[in-house]
This record gives sequence, C-alpha cells and structure tokens, in this order.
Amino acid sequence: MPPSDWELVCGLEVHAHLKTRTKMFCRCELEYGGAENTHTCPVCLAHPGALPVPNERAIEHTIKLGLALGCEIAEHAVFARKNYFYPDLPKGYQISQYESPLCGPGALLVPTPDGDERVGIVRAHLEEDAAKTVHAGGATGRSVGADYSLVDFNRGGTPLIEIVSEPDLRSADEADRYIRLLRQTIVELGVSDAEMEKGTLRADVNVSVRKRGEEGFRPRWELKNMNSFTFIRRGIDAAIREQIAAYERGEEIEQSTYDYDADTDMLTVHRSKEEADDYRYFPEPDLVPIEPPRELVERLRGEIGELPADRIRRYAEHVGVESATELVSTGNDWKAEALAAEGVEWKAAAAIAMNRGDFLRENATALAQIVRANVTREALDEAFAAAASSPISADQYLARTAVSDESELAPVIDAIIAANPGQVATYRAGKEGVLGFFVGQVMRETGGKADPKVVNRLLLEKLRG
Ligand SMILES: [Zn+2]
Repeated sequence: MPPSDWELVCGLEVHAHLKTRTKMFCRCELEYGGAENTHTCPVCLAHPGALPVPNERAIEHTIKLGLALGCEIAEHAVFARKNYFYPDLPKGYQISQYESPLCGPGALLVPTPDGDERVGIVRAHLEEDAAKTVHAGGATGRSVGADYSLVDFNRGGTPLIEIVSEPDLRSADEADRYIRLLRQTIVELGVSDAEMEKGTLRADVNVSVRKRGEEGFRPRWELKNMNSFTFIRRGIDAAIREQIAAYERGEEIEQSTYDYDADTDMLTVHRSKEEADDYRYFPEPDLVPIEPPRELVERLRGEIGELPADRIRRYAEHVGVESATELVSTGNDWKAEALAAEGVEWKAAAAIAMNRGDFLRENATALAQIVRANVTREALDEAFAAAASSPISADQYLARTAVSDESELAPVIDAIIAANPGQVATYRAGKEGVLGFFVGQVMRETGGKADPKVVNRLLLEKLRG
C-alpha cells in the first residue's frame, strides 16, 4: 500500500483466448500443447494472396461477454490493422479493432465488504493473438542471455478478446478482486477457459501514482503479460514503491513498458512506450465490418445466466462478501447452495463446500447441524458426484477424521511429487496455482482425510525443496 499522501491509479488490459475450435481468420484447429508448427496454413502464415475469414463463434463470444459487462454492442464494428514488426507476427500487422470495437463502454460492479466497487470498462474488442516465441539456449532460458529464439506459429491467429478497464483501481486488492471476478465471469459464460497457467488469460497492468486530491494522471508504467494473480499484486506494489521513491527523489517518471521478474521482485524496462500513432492503424481492407443482427444480440443476452457478481451478492447475505466471493471464485457455490437447500445452515454449508475440515472440526455446532439436518448420503453423493472435480464422496465427508500425522502424510506427498516432475517444474517456475493440483492429488490418495493445513505446509516445504 502506498503511503497515505499518495494513491494508486491502475487500469487493466485483460486478454483471454476465446474458446473456439478453430483460429480467428482461418480453419486451423486450436490445440493446446500440440507439436510445434503443426497447425498452420497460408492465412495464419501470411502467404501472399491468402484472405482472412472471421470466426463467427468468436464474434458471438465477444458480444456475450460485452453484454455481461453491460457494454453497448456496436451496430457497425470494424477490424483494423495494427502495424508492427516482430518475428511472431508474419503479416507485419495484427488484425485488431481500433476506432470501432465490437463492445463499447460498460462496467463491472465488484462486490466488496464496503459495497459495490464500480470498475469502468472502456471497451472489449476482438483480435488475433501473435505466435509464440520461445527463447532457448543460454543459461536461463529467458530472453536475456538466450542463445537463440524459436517461433511456434500454432498460437498465431488464436481469437483473443481484450477487455480494457478504466483506470479506476486504487489498490492492489481492488485490482485482484476485479480480475478474479472478471475471470470467473468469462469462464462461466463459456467464452474462454481463462487459465493463467496455460496462457489463455494474461493481463497488461497500467500503473501510475499521484498525490491524493490531485487532478489528472501522471505518466504510467505498463507491466506486460502478467500471468498470475500473485504476480499482478506484487508487480503493482513494486511499481508503486519505485514510482513514489523516484518522485520523492525529485525525478520524473517516463511512460514505459516493463517486465516484472517474480524471482527478484524487480521491474526492468521492456521498451519505451509506443503511442497509437506508431502502429499506423487503418481499417482492414480484406474484411467487411461486423454488423451483428439485433436478433443475434438478443439471443446471446438470453443465454446469459445469473452472473457471478449477482450470486456473490446473494450469498453475501448469508456468509458475508469475503466467503461468498471465495465460494463463487472457486466454483464451489452450487455445492453450498445444494446443502443449504437440504436445510444445512449457510455457514456450515459454505465450509463443507470449500472443504474446510478445519472449520468443521472447530465448530461442533456446525457438525451437529449437519447431522440434525438429516442430510442423506444419497443427497450429498448426488450433489458432489455432479462436480467431476470433487475428489471426495459424501460418505468420506461424513465419516471424516482428519489425518494430520506428518509421518503418515509425508510418504504420500513424496510419492506424488516423484510421480509428477512436470508439475513440480511448473510450480518451481513460479506458477503457484499448481499447488492446488498437488493438494487435490493428496486428497484423492488419502480419500479426503488429510488435514489440508498440514498438507499445504508439507507440500510447500517439499516443493520449495
Ligand atoms: Zn491457419
């Protein structure tokens, strides 16, 4: 948090790969983890004379998300060429949208303990992703010190939605709540898997600071390609720290693009920020404007169910905003709802749904309620079986006696770590989300009886090795 006379001004540009079978402008199939350069064609490799054909499903996904964010849907949206040179962009330009995006201004209302926080949405537009550059050789495998780079064109042309927020975020906490809720909304609408670990959700984070009460904005730093919630928070905090220190030394801040290095908690200049002029945007001559029929827009509006923000507000009446947010953002809220419908008191229902063995052990009344509520095993089984991801059956929930003995758990954890070297490497490369995978494996192996606190501690010790 900044010292009290300074405040953060932060906006996010969130990119999500849209869930489609094929690429944005050609029929190449999208396959995560496919062998390099096996999904390419003259269009996505930019051979002369090849013409783009837009992916209708991607357009529908973009409209649907725009509607969920309360955006105006354009009657006339235009694709534009964004010109720049980089080896991952064979055409020498990216097809994007500039002056006339598909989705215009809207807002996401983020529930917080102090009421809704409004984060304005400037626009949501459709574009294609660039290919993937892999920096190889060298000591670190990073761009700095790499011997050479390889390009995988499988990703080139993947449909991408970019959601640009207003600079309405005033703390790393607010940014965190916003992007988590936005991600959950994207996932539930079915428009993207939005998995940061797989690179299907990334964010550019714009950070500046100003004195409280000051009008207007100071120059900003753009932290590029942030791919974990934790790094976003830490990157924002690092930028706040450095900018305030610079101002207090009497220096000026220059508008630039930065890379955040999670290992060192340092920011390094990526490049001086280019202005829109540098891209020489102009309307894409090979594509006609998108003019979505009103019937299509209304059909898509009708397909939107109860949005995560609305469910958080509904559950918050029973369990408070923090727990409600956690329930929804982990996709466990429907379990709590099923239990509550069976007569289980909401706080206990939430604890069971979140697999909070600790809460239940410490809350004899909650357990008593569950027993009194006469929840049948069948009802619970049915509820939990519907969640393919749940590793634990209702039987195990009810009969549960937690195993917290380290000597019993350590060999199980060792075996799981030994059997999953890939996930271990991913975790050690900074993708902390993989921890959930390991916890899940331990729970599966122990029939759900392991004490989550002990499991977490042991896993962290061993994974950090
Ligand atoms: Zn292609």
